[in-house]
Amino acid sequence: MGKKAYPLMGGLLILCILYALVTHTSTAVSTGGAGQASPAAAASEPAHPADEADDWQLILVNKTHIMPEDYTVSTAKVGAYLVDRRIAEPLSEMIDAAAEEGVTLRIGSAYRSVAYQRDVFDRNVEQLKKRGYSEERAKEITSESIADPGTSEHSLGLAVDFARGDNTDFVESYEKTEQFAWLSAHAAEYGFICRYSKDKESITGYTYEPWHYRYVGAKHAREISAKGLCLEEYLGEV
Ligand SMILES: [Zn+2]
Repeated sequence: MGKKAYPLMGGLLILCILYALVTHTSTAVSTGGAGQASPAAAASEPAHPADEADDWQLILVNKTHIMPEDYTVSTAKVGAYLVDRRIAEPLSEMIDAAAEEGVTLRIGSAYRSVAYQRDVFDRNVEQLKKRGYSEERAKEITSESIADPGTSEHSLGLAVDFARGDNTDFVESYEKTEQFAWLSAHAAEYGFICRYSKDKESITGYTYEPWHYRYVGAKHAREISAKGLCLEEYLGEV
């Protein structure tokens, strides 16, 4: 090492001491703040699940996350039903795989435009009013099972309702069908989750819907299912 190196090393030493002082000071400030994570903890925190190129799979639409007015869906048909074209293939594959095991999955509803959703909602409100409910109460009851326009995943084209038999009635007894048993075991492999679980009603804001499946991609579906989470919990939106 030549003589010229010493001033350089001295400078580096001073820099190191300064760095140590600054780091120590900022750590002390952080730990003093109530509930604040230390810089080390923040750095090791996992990335938000939606911070990826495939984040369309995790778009959250619910009663507090209203769909953007300008959201457009490029659709494709699966059977007689329209879905977001990006899920047509996994959905078809899932239906085919079930069929190979003798289980017939019948789509009863898929993509619904916001305008159509408004129709469905309003018709239900009218029916309840005919049964004697006030308008306000009829809307409340309707909201428990039918999404307000702009708050339905069906308008994303990423949700599918499976009908029981040839019946388009969607009822809780779907959970007793062989279709539900098959979906519970395999839906995640194809990227689908049962979106409104029985034990998550207080978080999702929806009553249990064993027939409603939402596409989130296989990677996320597997993790969500394995951890027993609902989408809101997975996204940290609780
Ligand atoms: Zn549905």
